[in-house]
Amino acid sequence: MTIVRKIWNRAKDILPVSGFYFDQPLLLIQSDDWGRVGLRDHDGLEYLRSAGLTLGERPYDFYSLETADDVAALIGTLKGHRDSAGCSPCLEMNFVVGNLDFERIQAEDWRTIRVLPLVEGFPKGWERPGLTEAYRGGIADGVLYPALHGTTHFCRKAVERNMAAGGERAALLRTLWQSGTPYIHWRMPWIGYEYWDAEEAEEDRFLSCTSQSELIGHSVGAFAKFFSTLPLSACAPGYRANEDTVRAWSRHGVRVAQNGPGALVPPHLDNSGVLQVYRTIAFEPATNADFTLESCLRQVEACFALGIPAVVSIHSINFHSSLKDFRSSTLKHLDELLTLIESRHSNLLYVHDAQLWELVQNGFCRTPRGNVRVSVSSRKFTRAQVARQTAV
Ligand SMILES: [Zn+2]
Repeated sequence: MTIVRKIWNRAKDILPVSGFYFDQPLLLIQSDDWGRVGLRDHDGLEYLRSAGLTLGERPYDFYSLETADDVAALIGTLKGHRDSAGCSPCLEMNFVVGNLDFERIQAEDWRTIRVLPLVEGFPKGWERPGLTEAYRGGIADGVLYPALHGTTHFCRKAVERNMAAGGERAALLRTLWQSGTPYIHWRMPWIGYEYWDAEEAEEDRFLSCTSQSELIGHSVGAFAKFFSTLPLSACAPGYRANEDTVRAWSRHGVRVAQNGPGALVPPHLDNSGVLQVYRTIAFEPATNADFTLESCLRQVEACFALGIPAVVSIHSINFHSSLKDFRSSTLKHLDELLTLIESRHSNLLYVHDAQLWELVQNGFCRTPRGNVRVSVSSRKFTRAQVARQTAV
């Protein structure tokens, strides 16, 4: 089975696929982890420090949760920009649609994972006044667009297995949960990702088709309750998605699958009829010590030269300010990047995944300023070719 899989993976690199190319520069901004709680506040931080965690070693030790002010500041920056159609950039927020219900988990003696859906608010002890309204305001103004990330972000099976086993890992989980923090991934990568169990044998890491289908069904339900609409685009936690994930998304109406950065791959339809979109610019000033505006700009230009969309990846931590101010420098850099791109490309269009989907289907997309037509062509490419282009 493993050999067959390996041959198939090699074949996928050299089999030609029809990619979509655009005669106008398109820019998308995709952002993960919205709605997902991390370290609660300074009290939570002190609690964990007193329990022996040396926090502050990596940026994600200060990952908390956006505030209404963080979202308002982001919206302000986005509204300061316009593309050639007169529209502001729209940041696609991939939401985690539930958080751990720490209170209930503790009441049940730490035996079972319980999730509090986003529509019922944040876990006890978490204060985020006005945050839900801030999301909704940005969505109504057309500068934020909600998409699906997941529910727990970590693999439930892996966490439940480790809780049941007891020992150091279970003790760490319990300490974190007592402080209102679900996890700090880099300190415990064994928790895996929602559809991917890190410690299984390589070929068994993805959860079964049935398990993924159930999890995705629950996530889509929680998303619909919070946003009163179904998600059209989705990004798997940790970018760990396989064909079963995409098929389950597709059954629930998802039309666009987001993939992580790595190569300059054109958007293309897969076997499920889902549009696969690849991030091409890692814009992560909060977590990337080597971040420079110049290298991001070079990547944007490389995408436009190829006729593929510039797809900016920027995780929510970059906009956080409550435990550490990541927000100020991120917004400054983002403002500079957008200003430079607008000045260089008078025909620039800001789109989100639903508009990209419309473009490849119809050749035009709806915008707050009316329909915008873009010439879309289809050309064959291979992954091996794309990897070579990227290396150059
Ligand atoms: Zn994520």
